[in-house]
Amino acid sequence: MKKLIITAALDGAVTTKAQNPALPVTPDELAEDALKCYEAGAAVVHVHARDENGKETQGKEIYQEIHDKIKDACPEIIVQISTSGRDCPDFGPRSEGLLLNPEMASLTTGSVNFASKIYENSPETIEKLCRMMLERNIKPEIEIFDTSMIVAAKELAEKGLLKKPLYFDLMMGVRGAQPADFAQLNHLLTMLPEGSEWCISGISKNQQFTTMMGIALGGHVRVGLEDNIYYRRGELATNAQLVARAVRIAREFGREIATPDEAREILGIKRI
Ligand code: ZN
Repeated sequence: MKKLIITAALDGAVTTKAQNPALPVTPDELAEDALKCYEAGAAVVHVHARDENGKETQGKEIYQEIHDKIKDACPEIIVQISTSGRDCPDFGPRSEGLLLNPEMASLTTGSVNFASKIYENSPETIEKLCRMMLERNIKPEIEIFDTSMIVAAKELAEKGLLKKPLYFDLMMGVRGAQPADFAQLNHLLTMLPEGSEWCISGISKNQQFTTMMGIALGGHVRVGLEDNIYYRRGELATNAQLVARAVRIAREFGREIATPDEAREILGIKRI
């Protein structure tokens, strides 16, 4: 089986330090945590920017600072910038992180209801983000919260807006979206275009299930405090602990861990 790419989703937009004091929020904290995750086995870090109050923010400057500090601390690692913008669905602010040409960025190819709000991704915004990533040689991680998003990604690929191999992140167990269970996972996998690479993420306690499935079925995995703040019931985790656990499980399955350069090779990323 091919080597396992581990992505550490360091902070997200929703988790707070009050929920888990180990959550990295400032550029310095994100850089320190990125290095720890790299040392534990992560090839990619997925990051969101926060303002001084810890609230999600957008903007080239803050993303530049985060990107530069992570690269100073850990030059090898692949930095994946989020374009999610939950509080701001517009293309302008959401695309600012792409201006610094990160190696990767997230891309959600449809809208979905979360527990209490709409995660809005209009066709126009999706296509603009896609074009910008294509022009700047940024590899999209296509975030899939529902089956229809795979259909939309295939259409974007047919239009020439997504380059092969497509890299999907199957987001499972978000309240309001698709469940984290085997029937749904099997359905998603049958829908992926041939030759795609895929990663899997599970929210909260689902992260154990998705980590095992990604490792056992030949996919890749995303772990981290964005999706899950616990190591086990009642015990808070750190990002590096969650990466280290994925490494241990992978070894039990005989999966070796991809270095960042090996991840670039698997995903077709040319190093900047
Ligand atoms: Zn994210």
